[in-house]
Amino acid sequence: MSANGETTTAHIGGRAYPIIDHTFDVVVVGAGGAGLRAVVGCVEAGLSVACVTKVFPTRSHTVAAQGGVAAALGNMGPDDWKWHMYDTVKGSDWLGDQDAIEYLCRNAPEAVYELEHWGVPFSRTQDGRIYQRPFGGMTTDFGKGPPAQRTCAAADRTGHAMLHTLYGQALRHDARFFVEYFAIDLIMDQSGATRGVMCLKLDDGTIHRFRAGLTVLATGGYGRAFLSATSAHTCTGDGGGMVLRAGLPLQDMEFVQFHPTGIYGAGCLITEGARGEGGYLTNSEGERFMERYAPSVKDLAPRDMVSRAMTVEIREGRGVGKLQDHIHLHLEHLDPAILHERLPGISESAKIFAGVDVTREPIPVLPTVHYNMGGIPTNFHGEVLRRVGDDPDVVVPGLMAIGEAACVSVHGANRLGSNSLVDLIVFGRAAGHRAAEVVKPGEAQPELPADSADLALSRLDKFRHAAGGTPTAELRLKMQRVMQSHCAVYRAGEVLEEGSQAIHAVWRESADLKITDRSLIWNTDLVETLELDNLLVQAVVTMDSAKNRTESRGAHAREDFPNRDDADWMKHTLASIDDAGKTVALDYRPVHSYTLSDEVAYIEPKARVY
Ligand SMILES: Cc1cc2nc3c(=O)[nH]c(=O)nc-3n(C[C@H](O)[C@H](O)[C@H](O)COP(=O)(O)OP(=O)(O)OC[C@H]3O[C@@H](n4cnc5c(N)ncnc54)[C@H](O)[C@@H]3O)c2cc1C
Repeated sequence: MSANGETTTAHIGGRAYPIIDHTFDVVVVGAGGAGLRAVVGCVEAGLSVACVTKVFPTRSHTVAAQGGVAAALGNMGPDDWKWHMYDTVKGSDWLGDQDAIEYLCRNAPEAVYELEHWGVPFSRTQDGRIYQRPFGGMTTDFGKGPPAQRTCAAADRTGHAMLHTLYGQALRHDARFFVEYFAIDLIMDQSGATRGVMCLKLDDGTIHRFRAGLTVLATGGYGRAFLSATSAHTCTGDGGGMVLRAGLPLQDMEFVQFHPTGIYGAGCLITEGARGEGGYLTNSEGERFMERYAPSVKDLAPRDMVSRAMTVEIREGRGVGKLQDHIHLHLEHLDPAILHERLPGISESAKIFAGVDVTREPIPVLPTVHYNMGGIPTNFHGEVLRRVGDDPDVVVPGLMAIGEAACVSVHGANRLGSNSLVDLIVFGRAAGHRAAEVVKPGEAQPELPADSADLALSRLDKFRHAAGGTPTAELRLKMQRVMQSHCAVYRAGEVLEEGSQAIHAVWRESADLKITDRSLIWNTDLVETLELDNLLVQAVVTMDSAKNRTESRGAHAREDFPNRDDADWMKHTLASIDDAGKTVALDYRPVHSYTLSDEVAYIEPKARVY
């Protein structure tokens, strides 16, 4: 191990790879909302922080978030964080950990005010307070009152406003950014602790070894495992791939959220805020069918319910269009001034991607993959968990995960709209607080294991020289097709069994990958292959976890097991892999059925009716 900035050379497969070494108190992988919030917290605690990101920070997927960030501020009418907690537990179909949900909802207002003070340009009410809109599943008075107006918005560009403000704060705080560096794999030591991360600098091909007291994964979701997703092409779940290869499990991967309103054909998102502002869905008979499925909240039911209702309407022959294969979203009855002020972004998207003028005609929409409830299991401090003996909640020393990459679990089996942005800032902030407790500024770090670079470099070298017969794009398409057709809104045992065999076959085919560019400078062929490798392992555990869960809960709707089964299945799935043998192993972890404080009692499971 050499000192900061020094270069050594590793020899892998007969080829020389120069390695540049760095030592920091904390390395954060990812510069989306979660990563940047953690960076600010760690620097404020006096820690030296490196933030490694494969895209420029303000290009992270958080920039695309539209509708808003949930917090019970009560600016538009009475509200209470305990009502927000109740809605989130019910939205999660009782799979969320209630201690973590309490932490989220209780701390949400403070985290949002902090953003306001840092400069996020929120939309305003007449009297100057933060404007809040209704969102699916958000109610008042423990589900008994009318819909809550809880979602704080900056028009329909909330993520854009948040990300740019957070990046400004991170720069103000003197964090070191390593932009367009691709994290390949974690560095683990023999005791099972994480000691840092190995990265490839994309523009010059140099290898960088980051040694850190704490490594924070904030790498986002893996929506791109599916053919049609609202997420950016960069959402390849690299953190989840690294964790699986380190021998650690991922949690609740069967729960994939389909957003009801992706633009038909293009897949781009039309925010739920559109329905929050009064938009509604119709079938080919012009019927507002959500009134049948969710009589009280109608079009503002949670996403899993709306996506299922749309799928049923289409299946039963009431879809719109020539092929009767999609649904209409109406905004044309709304005041054009309101559309212009509160939904300018989606008005533009509808024009560009569907050729629709939202003031005159409905938007063609279809449920589209949007969010991963599953991810790296953590506690509410952001610390990654693994099972040791009978204890499923043992902290992995030196490793944290936050944001969409993590599974805290506050979203359980189904996330409520606007609860992700608040998850990013509340748990990004919590990770900063915890980092200040477990790492001392400038603390000496032990030497790295002698083989610290081997896992990452041997994978890199293997793919760089891959000389099989299957191009990366071809295998990626195969994977995406299997996931889209066999692991969609509705699932059934036979289809999942077929899907499992098909996705395992695709996984094995990765041995036959072919790369044409052998260089290390801006080698997009190589980077996309590393990303595909990350996507594939997560696709496989998603399918196998779905096949294994013989009940319906939240976003996981089994046609052969239509009911929720609390006696057997109110537990988290843990999935791990043997990458060499290409096998998956499943285990479980109890749902936390307790709260953090005496202020709120455990919310008992009951039927999820809206
Ligand atoms: C179109 C759209 C609209 C949405 N709207 C809303 C909304 O209104 N409200 C809401 O609550 N939620 C919304 N969501 C969900 C929410 O935006 C995301 O869940 C959230 O932004 C994810 O943030 P993140 O910080 O976890 O990751 P991201 O913002 O995805 O950032 C990931 C970061 O990790 C880095 N990274 C990844 N892999 C590597 C690697 N190998 N090496 C180095 N760096 C790496 C990337 O460079 C990036 O900086 C929306 C999602 C989408 C797709």
